[in-house]
Amino acid sequence: MEKLEIKTYPNRILRKKAEKVNNVEEVEELIDKMKNTLEEVNGIGLAAPQVGVSKQVFVVKDGHHYYAFMNPEIVEKSEETTKTQEGCLSFPGLWVDVDRPKKVKLKALTEDGERMLLEADGVGAVVFQHEIDHLFGNLLIDKLPFSKKIKIYFKNLFNEKRAD
Ligand SMILES: [Zn+2]
Repeated sequence: MEKLEIKTYPNRILRKKAEKVNNVEEVEELIDKMKNTLEEVNGIGLAAPQVGVSKQVFVVKDGHHYYAFMNPEIVEKSEETTKTQEGCLSFPGLWVDVDRPKKVKLKALTEDGERMLLEADGVGAVVFQHEIDHLFGNLLIDKLPFSKKIKIYFKNLFNEKRAD
């Protein structure tokens, strides 16, 4: 099974708002490849823009299982927040303390084509929120103060080829 190339910041696709998926068939192959890619890199979450596809699809790992969700929408967030150190496959080596709601409820389309209401807490809630951020062009770097953000931008720009 083919592994996909992970786009790193500042690749412009990471900032684009992803399009909704109309039917699961159109992304079946993408989902398989994304699950495979996530397994290969030993990650816990991957969003389609990170592999160069601007569609509202993300894959998460839970134990030994990989699940895909589409067109997610957060419908409820807890007032209680929790701070977690987050990393991102599109920012190799960057770790940022991020404050997020501790629990979330979301609606999403599953790979079986069913619209479901999901509840997540703890690490699950962090992963869901992080991946959903990707679908709307919001990135880990946005959680940093501006001065740090600009340093990272220039560092990436000069150290890596700028791919579009
Ligand atoms: Zn990420």
